[in-house]
Amino acid sequence: MAESPGALTHPSYGTLRAVTPTASVLLCHNPGQMSLDGTNTWILRAPGSDRVVVLDPGPEDPEHLRRVADVGEVALTIASHQHFDHTEGLDTFVKLTGSPVHAVTEEFRSGGGGGLEHGEVFEVDGLRLTVLRTPGHTKDSVSLVLDGIGPDDPGAVLTADTILGHGTTVLDPQDGDLGDYLDSLDVLIEAGVGRICLPGHGPELPDVAAIARVYRDHRHERLTQVRDALALMGPTADVKTIVEHVYQDVDPALWPVAAWSVEVQLRYLRERA
Ligand SMILES: [Zn+2]
Repeated sequence: MAESPGALTHPSYGTLRAVTPTASVLLCHNPGQMSLDGTNTWILRAPGSDRVVVLDPGPEDPEHLRRVADVGEVALTIASHQHFDHTEGLDTFVKLTGSPVHAVTEEFRSGGGGGLEHGEVFEVDGLRLTVLRTPGHTKDSVSLVLDGIGPDDPGAVLTADTILGHGTTVLDPQDGDLGDYLDSLDVLIEAGVGRICLPGHGPELPDVAAIARVYRDHRHERLTQVRDALALMGPTADVKTIVEHVYQDVDPALWPVAAWSVEVQLRYLRERA
């Protein structure tokens, strides 16, 4: 079933695409402004094993969920965070597979699955995964370190929506937090050196630490711009005015999304004022 790594490229809808010796992706056909080309459902399997670990079955898309369920016996399922494009299909997926579901947010857990503590390790037939709590995109976001097998496999970090394959992550205006997010990027910079980045949307990237640094620099750049805008326009300047000033380099169609980001940045700046 597994293809040799590199035989297919992103985006490959509906086909199991091998990315590393132990990680393959099934891309769901749910493209959109927030989901880029669609949700990446990651399927992790030790060489020669029939059992798999699934990260994020994805939205309620019967065809996609059936495809994921058909890849092998699902030893356990992990939800990276609460957003519907990662969790909506969980109930259907559990009916198809009987897999336990682990998630930080209790309502997504089932079958005895736990709450994903920072540093918790899962081992399935020689596959080794370590949980990193990486809040910021949402409060309940996790990433997973996937150990390499043998000298030619550097291993990977599954970053879900904390780091995407292209573009930047939007922090959830309800329970996202910029301070948490910057701390999480530091965690990924430390844990991700030389490891392949397997994101929740978009293509894989060669080095988690390198891309996490780019993300951190970008956030600090935007923060400086928002701080400067406030200095220029006064502390009571509204979100819309700040967006138009700071996001001149961004397509206006994305300004509503940028407004969430500015809200999160204002909260961060005010909490630290
Ligand atoms: Zn997502």
